[in-house]
Amino acid sequence: MNAPLLSVSDARKRYGPVAALDGVSLEVRAGEFFALLGPSGCGKTTLMRCIAGFETPDSGRVTLNGADLSGVPPYRRPVNMMFQSYALFPHLNVFDNIAFGLRRKGEAAEAIAARVGELLEMTQLSPCATRRINELSGGQRQRVALARALAPRPALLLLDEPLGALDRKLREETQFQLKEIQRKTQTSFVIVTHDQDEALALADRVAVMRAGKVEQIASPVEIYEKPATRFVAGFVGETNFVDGVVRGGALDTAFGLLPRARCDLPEGARATLSIRPERIGVARAGHGVAGLVEDFVFRGEYTLLRVRVAPDVVLRVGAYEGGFAQGEEVRLSFAPDAGVLFAEAA
Ligand code: ATP
Repeated sequence: MNAPLLSVSDARKRYGPVAALDGVSLEVRAGEFFALLGPSGCGKTTLMRCIAGFETPDSGRVTLNGADLSGVPPYRRPVNMMFQSYALFPHLNVFDNIAFGLRRKGEAAEAIAARVGELLEMTQLSPCATRRINELSGGQRQRVALARALAPRPALLLLDEPLGALDRKLREETQFQLKEIQRKTQTSFVIVTHDQDEALALADRVAVMRAGKVEQIASPVEIYEKPATRFVAGFVGETNFVDGVVRGGALDTAFGLLPRARCDLPEGARATLSIRPERIGVARAGHGVAGLVEDFVFRGEYTLLRVRVAPDVVLRVGAYEGGFAQGEEVRLSFAPDAGVLFAEAA
């Protein structure tokens, strides 16, 4: 396995009583697309600022290619940052915005022209090279900011909510472009986002943060299918939490026994099953847990049903077959390997 490009070990940072970073460790590989995901205030921006050098951790280490970055100012780090606001120069045209960092480094004019030309092409901005920033659409501005940040060939690019300023439809389109540009440049990207769909769509690996700590680092599929904690299960994607007690390898719930394929918890332990709506089977008749459809929302490829299975338990169930009616009785099935069981305190 290659040595990591970036390594953060046990980083801590306090602002008065707030532990913005409470012992964060993670590694980013060369060429990797990495996402920091978490709710507002969990410490994502603080971590990114520590990596960029705008902020110094109270303790812990940040290394790049094995070299300790403590005391190295931002402009001396092979790290660049793209801000959510883009921070473009309104009085310069697109070409000059992208060339800015290279000129400051004193590179030769031909080398600058070649590099900027390459980036204009990659970001599909060649026809706009001489336009001023205020003559561009939101999506084009975002691409100028990206091209400018990539121009000096940083080993690592930090992107703070890179698609945050774009509307929903443009965001999706831009996600593909961003991924393609990352692949072409083979630069390590670390994006900060509170949007789980964005993190899952873009990143090779995702770190889910909560209150200054990393809860899980894994691939998007693993984060979704095998959340390490109850928080991750609830924060990423939709889920149902079903409380119960472990009995004979099953979870004893308010609506019956749910057999489990694997159960590491002791007999009698209180536990919670996290199960995604689409992992609960639904049929109009047959075996399974009886429930009543309370209401439903059409979501295009499936219908999300709210099904009452006990006086105080309503489950969200994804039905791929349409035509369910309010008040209809249905049967729900729970595969023994579907979902993840958490001990009560997890
Ligand atoms: P958001 O998604 O809202 O940007 P975040 O996950 O990036 O949130 P941070 O900005 O890193 O979170 O903030 C983490 C915690 O540290 C928050 O409680 C925040 O209020 C606090 N904090 C961050 N910067 C400072 C500062 N300069 N002074 C005081 N408190 C700060």
